[in-house]
Parts: sequence; C-alpha cells; structure tokens
Amino acid sequence: MKSKPKFETIAIKSTENKFKNSEPVSTPIYLSSTYKRNSDGSYTNDFVYSRTNNPNRAIVEESIAILENGKHAFAFSSGMAAIGAVFQSLKSGDHILLPDDIYYAIKKLMEDVLKRWNLSYNLVDMTNIEEVKKAIKPNTSLIWVESPSNPQLKLSDISAIAEIAHKNNAICAVDNTWLTPVFQNPLELGADIVVHSTTKYFGGHSDVIGGCVVVNDENISEKIKNIQILSGAVPAPFDCWLIGRGIQTLHLRIKKQSKNALKLAKFLENHPKIEKVNYPGLESHPQHLLAKRQQKKGFGAMLSVLIKGNERETIAIASKLKYFTLATSLGGVESLVEHRKSVEGVDSPTPNNLLRISVGIEHIDDLIKDWENALSINN
Ligand SMILES: *Cc1c(COP(=O)(O)O)cnc(C)c1O
Repeated sequence: MKSKPKFETIAIKSTENKFKNSEPVSTPIYLSSTYKRNSDGSYTNDFVYSRTNNPNRAIVEESIAILENGKHAFAFSSGMAAIGAVFQSLKSGDHILLPDDIYYAIKKLMEDVLKRWNLSYNLVDMTNIEEVKKAIKPNTSLIWVESPSNPQLKLSDISAIAEIAHKNNAICAVDNTWLTPVFQNPLELGADIVVHSTTKYFGGHSDVIGGCVVVNDENISEKIKNIQILSGAVPAPFDCWLIGRGIQTLHLRIKKQSKNALKLAKFLENHPKIEKVNYPGLESHPQHLLAKRQQKKGFGAMLSVLIKGNERETIAIASKLKYFTLATSLGGVESLVEHRKSVEGVDSPTPNNLLRISVGIEHIDDLIKDWENALSINN
C-alpha cells in the first residue's frame, strides 16, 4: 500500500491488536466482539463471536466445571439467567418440585413468567423425603434443591432426592451458591445439574453479577449451551475476568468466612436477646448430622437469627451494627446483614424478626463485639 491512509483509517488500523506472541501471566480482558478468520476462511482459534464464546468466558467455564467435578459449565450474565436456562430446557407441560422456602425470585419467575409457558410447580418441604415422594406427579421432570435454603438454612438430603428424581424419570438440580464446590459437590452426590449465582462467593467482592450451570450429561449440556448462545444472556469478558480473579482466592475467603460464621453463631446462640440461630454448624441445628455428611469440609458463612422482639426492634438492631452493612446479597469479603421479610414481601414465610447474615473476612473479635454492642442498646 503506497499512499498513506487517511486519519480515520489510521485511527482504526493503528489501534488493532498487535501483541500476538506476548504471553502475559494474568489473562488479559478480551474486549473483542469478533475474531479474525484466516485467508482460507478458517478461524485462528476457537473463537468466532463473543456471544458464542470468548477467552475470558472459556477460562471461567472450564475452571468452574473442574471445581464442581462436572464435564461442562456454562456462564451466564446473572444467577437468575443461569436458573432460567435450566427451566427453559424443560418442555411445555412439565411439572417441577421446588423447596417451600426457595430463593424468592425463582418462585416469582415461575409464577409471573413460566406458568404462561405451561410449566407447573409445587412447593415442598424438602427436609422431609416422604413429602418429596408424595409430591411427584407423572409429568414431574425436575426436582430443584437449595441446600442450605435461603434464609432459614434448612438442609435437603441431595443423594436421597436425586435418587427419588431418577426413579421417577426426572432430573435433580441443586443451587450450590451458598456453599460453593469448596464445601459441597452436588454432582458427586448424584445431582444432574448444579447452578450458581457467581455474583456471590465466586466473584467474592460485591462488584459483579454472574451465574453458571454445570452438568455432566451430554444431552442436557447441548440444551443449556443452545439456550446460552441463542438467548444470549451471556456475561461480558470483564465480568468473566472478575469472576476468574475471584476463583483464585475463593477457597481462602470462604474457609475464613465459614470459621468466622461458626464463632459468631456460637456467640449469638448464647445471647439472651436472641431467640434462635439458624446455622448448620451448630449442634442445635436439626440437620447438623446431615450437614457433617453432605457438606464435606465446612458449614458455610451464611446464618440467620431470630431476634427476641418485633419487626421494628429487629431492624433497629441491624442498623446499630457498624461492621455489617445493611444490604442485600452475600458472599463478598465484607459482612452484610439484611431484614429478609421486607425484601421478600408480605406473602413470604420468612419471620418478621429474622435477620440474615453474610459473614465476611474481618477479624472475628470485631464482628462479635459489634453484635454485643448492637444487642446491648435498648431499642
Ligand atoms: C443471589 C442468588 C440467586 C440469584 O442470583 P443473581 O446473580 O442475583 O441473579 C439465586 N440463588 C441463590 C441461592 C442466591 O443467593
């Protein structure tokens, strides 16, 4: 090319990616929507178009699949998009069993959107295997498990429920957001699908929204992959980069958070202003033995407490805390506290005097003192 290109053209060509053979230690953020083809039409690598796949997403998917002992993982732009993809993989007319205290947005998704697509559901007390068996219908194709549940920390026996599902030609999906594969591997326990809101512990710093689905079965995998690519609720490369960075320290954070949570739970359990503490690591938890068997190496860093008092007094105590920020969400390095009932609405079964706590990585002495202080003030 002899003549010098014009300004506009230089602006485009001079900023093209030139660093083909450099090897950065940390994965760069691949902010490219599309990938070059060779002159014979072949692609230079696996990547064509970023909705279909991109390097940052491929890294996160491969990593989460290995950590969950699954064959395939698919990343989504939120936990709800991942969960929605599982429901979209069913067929019209199918019936679903959901836990009676399921994450409230999932129930709302069923009620407001999926019912119109002729998917029906029943809410079941999943702590009781007999109730699960009784609720199965001929068209039940999916049993959804959340263990521990949100916000009452009820546990479900994943192996037993997966077995019931399989005996009835259904599949079992587990929302493993609260424990992560550091503490619980549902696929090893017989589940067919694991979902995560990677917004929580995987991201770990309250700065990204994401989700993923992990599966072993090739047939289910094909369906989820199609929904991911064709519905297009995919995470941006930067979101994937943040989640990939989070994965590097996931085990350190959640183990420390879980240790803190157990100590805080023990302190709160003995406090006269606390009516009840829901935490699977306490011997007083009705399913403590199941927690020990099912949750390999830890009890998690989420707990909830019932305050001796009404809704106003409960919220007043939460607002006295200095190191527990009043906010929704969980799993970040900072401790959070939330009055769940006022988020979930009047028809939620959550008690008025319940506070949900996400324990962070701060020093446990400060966290305990903070509660001691908030509970000592006359509200
Ligand atoms: C937060 C959460 C979700 C929803 O995930 P988003 O990333 O907010 O869409 C689903 N399940 C559980 C258990 C959660 O905590």
